[in-house]
Amino acid sequence: MLKGKTAVITGGTRGIGFAVAKKYLDNGANVAVAGSRPETVEKALAALAEYGERVMGISPDLCSPEEVAASFASVKARFGSLDILINNAGVSSRTPLYDYTLEEFSRIIDINLKAVFVCSQAAARLMREQGGGSIINASSMVSEYGQPSGCGYPATKFAVDGLTKSLSRELAKDGIRVNAVAPGVTKTDMVAALPKEMVDRISAGIPLGRPGEPEEVADAYVYLGSDMASYVTGTVLRVDGAAMN
Ligand code: NAD
Repeated sequence: MLKGKTAVITGGTRGIGFAVAKKYLDNGANVAVAGSRPETVEKALAALAEYGERVMGISPDLCSPEEVAASFASVKARFGSLDILINNAGVSSRTPLYDYTLEEFSRIIDINLKAVFVCSQAAARLMREQGGGSIINASSMVSEYGQPSGCGYPATKFAVDGLTKSLSRELAKDGIRVNAVAPGVTKTDMVAALPKEMVDRISAGIPLGRPGEPEEVADAYVYLGSDMASYVTGTVLRVDGAAMN
């Protein structure tokens, strides 16, 4: 579904991002895994060694326009184009408002929102030159409902939906589609480490009766990045088992 396309996946070193990297490679794409540290990128590349020359690693500061532009240029130089940007890197927080520091609030805004802006701008510049592309952002089910603590996290995800919808309108003329994937509770390391009773309690509130697998979320990224979604832009695709419906 993605043969000949080149994708950058931020936070592609583990969790949902790593599952997306694997699915993209399985579907014929070239992939640049972007991680926060060279060591984690190296580890991810070792785990993807079977894909050989179709995968590379980068580790720019995602909030630095200069570093991101240089990294994305290196991806284009290596593979010939940059067709898909997946803004997946993110951090969450459950801190109550009364204890939330300005530093923590700024950090979550930086990674979950400012980095999406910086990376989207750098990628869009390259995509416009080459006649189009696709940007896919990591939203969350909390972008619709909020959450009872850790207000910074849902605030960033509401903003990501806003950026997605606005940029889809602004960039359509350049052939660039912009969408988001909104996962529900997904079995990354964090969820896998929870006690069984807690997972059972969470599952009871999900009509499909279980958390999602990272691979199930990754399939949505494959669809939105592929030509099968050529008329889909400005959408936030929920992959959450109808949680909170
Ligand atoms: P994870 O913690 O397993 O992975 C997050 C990734 O982001 C890691 O690769 C990490 O290195 C990267 N990252 C964090 N800070 C970074 C920084 N400063 N610079 C570069 N990379 C950085 O998380 P996940 O569960 O796989 O989540 C991926 C995305 O999906 C996030 O945006 C998250 O908000 C969203 N999401 C996850 C769930 C879930 O249940 N797992 C649900 C809804 C939305």
